Amino acid sequence: MLSHKQLFLLNTAQTSDFPRLLEIEKAEGCYLYDPSGKKYLDLVSGFAVSNLGHRNPNVVKAIKDQVDKYLHVTVYGEYVQAPQVLFAQKLASVLPQNLSSVYFTNSGAEATEGALKLAKKYTNRSHIVAFHHSYHGSTHGALSVMGNEEYKQGYRPLLPDISFTDINTYADLEIITNQTAAVILETIQGEAGIRVPDKEYLQALRKKCNETGTLLIFDEIQTGFGRTGKMFAFENFGVIPDILLLAKGMGGGMPIGAFISSKKIMDVLKDNPILGHITTFGGHPVSCAAGLATLNTIIRENLFADVPEKEKLFRSLLIHPKIKEVRGMGLMLCIQLDSFKQVEAISKKCVENGVIIDWFLHCDTAMRIAPPLIITNEEIEFSCKVILDAISGV
Ligand code: PLP
Repeated sequence: MLSHKQLFLLNTAQTSDFPRLLEIEKAEGCYLYDPSGKKYLDLVSGFAVSNLGHRNPNVVKAIKDQVDKYLHVTVYGEYVQAPQVLFAQKLASVLPQNLSSVYFTNSGAEATEGALKLAKKYTNRSHIVAFHHSYHGSTHGALSVMGNEEYKQGYRPLLPDISFTDINTYADLEIITNQTAAVILETIQGEAGIRVPDKEYLQALRKKCNETGTLLIFDEIQTGFGRTGKMFAFENFGVIPDILLLAKGMGGGMPIGAFISSKKIMDVLKDNPILGHITTFGGHPVSCAAGLATLNTIIRENLFADVPEKEKLFRSLLIHPKIKEVRGMGLMLCIQLDSFKQVEAISKKCVENGVIIDWFLHCDTAMRIAPPLIITNEEIEFSCKVILDAISGV
């Protein structure tokens, strides 16, 4: 009989020649466990998903309660489903007034697709401005606004009429004109290796969008739900987008995403023709129940209040001659090293020693630190010791 690892390599599609191949038996809180019972402190959170930790009891209970009522009942936007409407209402209650209409999707990429279509339909324009080193998902539309040519070259033709710029490049704001439908930007760039824009830059971007009637889309798929020390990262910059993209941490470990805008903007999807955007499973009742429990837990337990303190602790401990820089905000951090070789060897050593750490799609010379927000000071100290020992060893 073949082992699970052999079956993984044989029958599940492979996306690289060097998968981590860590078999997971169970997950709880900040830890993953393999079949031998070895535990791993998770500094990646399933790529910024498990903000509450794995299997938060409130989320698990909400899932079980909903499973006992109903699963899928119809395509999105037809029947009234309590988990969906209550989650949408709760999201609206923690967002600025203009972000009150929630379109639920299955994933982050699907949220990006919906937002690009929405902006084009609302403005009746096609030009889109995106950013170098960005990541908004892997589907065709999302790939079109990805700022990394290497990932796009095999899949052309992609969407036309897209211009790319860099964060904090004020001179390039001129490419946003009254022909531009939307500017799409991760509020803090994730896969670029955590790049935080200047507050003044985001404010200038907002101003330019206002002047040209361009919709500003913030992708908070990685930054949302407390990761940066605020519920949403845009709160750190005093800039409110016209369309907000959410996913990842939104479902507490269940698949769900959303694009959120004003009712006025969103309403263009329902006319000429009707059903301008359709999804069968988007807003699945079990995912919405999990999402509502996630958001309620974040609010009730004030889960991100001590994120800035935890960031400080990481920064104070991650000091080593081989560390060039620790970048980021809150618990969305990265350790900048010199080479991928170092990153590869260090992350391998960390995993061997029970700490999961990884790198970035567009920046393989830096290591990602995105633990569950519930990580304790002792766990931060332990993980930094393992990381520093590994760095010293390469
Ligand atoms: N946007 C950002 C900023 C992301 O980090 C990701 C995923 O890593 C996505 C969009 C795509 O989300 P998904 O993998 O759910 O399609």
